[in-house]
Amino acid sequence: MIELANVTHGYGDRPVLHDISLRLTERRIGLIGANGSGKSTLARLLNGLILPDSGQVLVDGLDTMKQGRAVRRKVGFVFPDAGTQIIMPTVAEDVTVGLRNRGLSKEEVAARVTDVLARYGLADHHDHAAHLLSGGQKQMLALAAVLVTEPEILVCDEPTTLLDRRNVRTVMETLRTLPQQVILLTHQLETLDDFDRVLVVGEGRVVFDGSPGNAIDHYIESIDAGAVPVGDQAGEPIRDL
Ligand code: ADP
Repeated sequence: MIELANVTHGYGDRPVLHDISLRLTERRIGLIGANGSGKSTLARLLNGLILPDSGQVLVDGLDTMKQGRAVRRKVGFVFPDAGTQIIMPTVAEDVTVGLRNRGLSKEEVAARVTDVLARYGLADHHDHAAHLLSGGQKQMLALAAVLVTEPEILVCDEPTTLLDRRNVRTVMETLRTLPQQVILLTHQLETLDDFDRVLVVGEGRVVFDGSPGNAIDHYIESIDAGAVPVGDQAGEPIRDL
């Protein structure tokens, strides 16, 4: 279980998150909000990728400030652009990286890698160049590389944004069948239909916390309130969606 107590976070002297307190216990939680509202910042606080300026983030009682390494083993994080998360030349090597320094034998590592690639539809790509995979396959690889480490909680920052509908469905079906708690950041509200809880972030605060069905109005309101119209040449403001 992740608990945030009076968490604030900013960059430089610019505050971004204001006094957030939450207990995240549900199995499937969606996090939505306008661009720049602070969703990614909130997500990155959940596994200690960044630390609160004040307040506390606890994962099963472990403080991200003091026990960051243990927290990062519990909470897997999938970045929005799978391409940047893929760091090794081949598919199998990329999945192997996360298993380093875990005291596993070579055989055990190889078996886990083979198993996870099969589970996420990448068995035929074991020795292929990772950068040559399709967008959907890269996203599955990024997911596989995190899931192979068996995190208890998975935070996914917009994992379906760059994907076509078929791949969105594949990734969402995968997320739905995982035994882990999943916290999903997305702009695709329809993917959250059967989620247990949706949080809408607006200007660094949680402006709605409830069921997916009721989140939509608050999402639209938060976008209207928080959008920075940049204006196009014709003078029509363009909403920052
Ligand atoms: P969202 O995920 O909702 O789009 P973010 O959490 O990424 O929002 O960003 C919230 C605000 O913090 C934005 O104004 C963004 O420009 C700023 N921000 C995010 N990351 C950084 C960073 N590493 N350094 C400085 N400012 C940042």
